[in-house]
Amino acid sequence: MLRTHTCGELNISNAGQEVTLAGWIQKSRDLGGMTFIDLRDRYGITQLVFNMETDAKLCEKARKLGREFVIKVTGKVAERSNKNPKMPTGDIEIIVGGFEILNESKTPPFTIEDNTDGGDELRMKYRYLDLRRNPVKENLALRHKISIETRKYLDGENFFEIETPFLIKSTPEGARDFVVPSRMHTGQFYALPQSPQTFKQLLMVAGYDRYFQLVRCFRDEDLRADRQPEFTQIDCEMSFVTREDILNTFEGLAKHLFKTVKGIDIEEFPRMSYDDAMKFYGSDKPDIRFGMKFVELNDVAQGKGFVVFDNAELVVGINAEGCAGYSRKQLDKLTEFVKKPQIGAKGLVYVKYNEDGTFKSSVDKFFDGEALKGWAEKFGSKPGDLMLILAGEKDKTRKALNELRLEMGDRLELRDKNIFKPLWVVDFPLLERDEDSGRWHAMHHPFTSPKQEDIELMETEPGLVRANAYDMVINGVEIGGGSIRIHNKDLQKRMFKLLGFSDEEAQNQFGFLMNAFEYGAPPHGGIALGFDRLVALFGGSDSIRDYIAFPKNNAGRDVMIDSPSQIAQEQLNELGLKIVK
Ligand code: ASP
Repeated sequence: MLRTHTCGELNISNAGQEVTLAGWIQKSRDLGGMTFIDLRDRYGITQLVFNMETDAKLCEKARKLGREFVIKVTGKVAERSNKNPKMPTGDIEIIVGGFEILNESKTPPFTIEDNTDGGDELRMKYRYLDLRRNPVKENLALRHKISIETRKYLDGENFFEIETPFLIKSTPEGARDFVVPSRMHTGQFYALPQSPQTFKQLLMVAGYDRYFQLVRCFRDEDLRADRQPEFTQIDCEMSFVTREDILNTFEGLAKHLFKTVKGIDIEEFPRMSYDDAMKFYGSDKPDIRFGMKFVELNDVAQGKGFVVFDNAELVVGINAEGCAGYSRKQLDKLTEFVKKPQIGAKGLVYVKYNEDGTFKSSVDKFFDGEALKGWAEKFGSKPGDLMLILAGEKDKTRKALNELRLEMGDRLELRDKNIFKPLWVVDFPLLERDEDSGRWHAMHHPFTSPKQEDIELMETEPGLVRANAYDMVINGVEIGGGSIRIHNKDLQKRMFKLLGFSDEEAQNQFGFLMNAFEYGAPPHGGIALGFDRLVALFGGSDSIRDYIAFPKNNAGRDVMIDSPSQIAQEQLNELGLKIVK
């Protein structure tokens, strides 16, 4: 090895030792007779000292070293007179006896500091330099830790880690596929997997009753801030299990990760039906770090002459504790918030439950104190609280109130990043209807089993059929989802039919799976957790990009290697492709 120690491990107990370190020059300072250099590697920073008086030549040479030069130094560990308690190595320094330049460096385009002066694009372009910075390194260390602990837990539960191919054919996961042209089979294409869904089900048919894989998935979707065209899943499948077994196993994984990575004991892991999630939170991924559950008011608020309420399918609100003192301005701000086009409410009704027990509302004309008291009882409001109410078409109003609830949660600082509240949302609808085409789509994917008791409704009332599907939600973020699968060929056929596939189309696309179901497919089910998202959540960030070594930017480009890019005409010819603009 070129070094005896790393730059992060020496302390006062090493004083007097002769050591060799190697690393990058973080910065250097000339103070007349002395030169100090901070030497950095992955493990930390160690201070080097050169003394003009004892070795002028060496000191002169050291003064010529630039930032990010790579050097190897030998010297003696000494106690510092000026200690830095903020650094693990802050009690010592190295009195350098000699050094060797292993490589020079151009001046980096931004500072390699925790708070760098480099903008996003520049740092992406020089990602290898950005990766030298502590915060980025810590993010990758967190990712590593979570992946190792995931493997440990699943190994302990008898899961087999098995790789599945990347060059496959379309999996119907709902997004667009990335495709790869085949040279040897001109005019034919592979698709990159949106997930290993069909392969993991085939592994169940093969008898590998517990499978997992930390696997890259590819989806050609329009990009959003927290989306990457390629991302990683903790993908799992189990045989001979009920839904309960799967939930318990992955609740166990989540608890293991919180314990081993963050030292947190997760006590509760509630289960909530999709219907309740929508009714009480207006979202299929409720943030249950705080209350403010929806309260429906149709029975007390309608029929009193206020047309907005009378014409509404749903009148529903939340109680904001201690907010009765909100000023006109603050209330106007909230009204503006719910009227934003992305949220789409027509207006906001408020009721202040004043400290003195009286009420003041924006609908005083229609509702007297007695009526408002009745509302307060429904909300469980106390004097000092503020009730915020929306009305309109059911689904839209719930969605808008969800946004308002989250906004109030933020304002009241109820969404603490250091508190983690996971839950399962279960019993999703099997299908959703595309409003334009009128066609039914699988809400999860076409291999998800309907709930046994709803199967008979598949042809008559498809919209009412519930799926044996579940999502893991933590702090309002969907961390993953899965389902018990269909393992019967005829039921799978019925499902494809519902989704508008002809027998022939189903056979063409999924014949391999349906045929496999004829060779003793066990009952099975599984789940996939979004690994990047899980890591970001653990790290307290909203952006998965920060936890990926080489991410793409918001336009789906890798600006470092400049991809996507054109390919040579020769390559196109070989593939039998022609670019049509
Ligand atoms: N393949 C599914 C997905 O990627 C997860 C699952 O059903 O296991 O969302």
